[in-house]
Amino acid sequence: MRHASRHVLILGGTTEGRTLAAELAPTAHRVTSSLAGRVARPRLPAGEVRIGGFGGAEGLADWLRAERVDAVVDATHPFAAGISRNAALAAAATGVPLLVLRRPGFTRVDGDHWLPVPSLAAAAELLPRRGERVFLTIGRQGVAAFAHLDGVHFLARSVDPPEPPLPPSFEVLLDRGPFTIEGEEALLRRHDIDVLVTKDSGGAATSAKLTAARGLRLPVVIVERPPVPDGVPVVPDVPGALHWLEQLR
Ligand code: NAP
Repeated sequence: MRHASRHVLILGGTTEGRTLAAELAPTAHRVTSSLAGRVARPRLPAGEVRIGGFGGAEGLADWLRAERVDAVVDATHPFAAGISRNAALAAAATGVPLLVLRRPGFTRVDGDHWLPVPSLAAAAELLPRRGERVFLTIGRQGVAAFAHLDGVHFLARSVDPPEPPLPPSFEVLLDRGPFTIEGEEALLRRHDIDVLVTKDSGGAATSAKLTAARGLRLPVVIVERPPVPDGVPVVPDVPGALHWLEQLR
């Protein structure tokens, strides 16, 4: 595809989405990044930016037609399954080519004590048996899955404050990565953490906590990723996405 004459929609909200926008903005005729609007002060990508939902798969399909989009790159977070499903439906309905740009998950290494679970609810079920002081890094959404757990203390870290309902013993640390191994180790020690709960988000910006947990021999309850919609091509990185765009005719 010749970038200079096409409109590329990037479904973003991730580092990869911003990097792709920065690569394409100087070359493409038009690059639009779409953000959900969950974060109060998002890091804005290069090029055009639109913020807020489309109104389901049909709304997204309407937008693709109205804005004459030539290709969609779904660079959303691996756990943002709703928008990825909508993107697949909208692409099928309009015939607009769709690519999923999904960073690889975290890599387990010797010394890791990981407890994989299929959902946040399953993580909550495991917890009382696994530890009493939990470091929760699942983002702002989803804390409600742990709200019924008394007798467990939670230290949660997120960019913006989580919404209620929250567990009775709960403190929040507002911060965003990248984080260092030393910093994560100090945090885990300072708060006397005995178990981590996280999602298999992947990415270098947030992997330090896993290294720190390994060093301190702490178990990590790790929520597995939802699957990518059937039949949609997937690449693991920005160069892969640029290559896919080049191939389009
Ligand atoms: P989700 O559950 O998959 O999506 C729920 C709804 O939010 C979608 O149906 C859509 O509304 C809207 N939406 C989501 N992403 C959008 C986007 N990029 N542009 C426009 N609308 C979007 O999504 P989520 O898990 O709440 O995540 C929301 C955003 O935060 C995503 O863009 C994702 O990349 C980012 N993010 C998520 C996580 C996470 O752990 N889930 C972590 C970091 C960043 P309509 O149906 O009205 O179109």
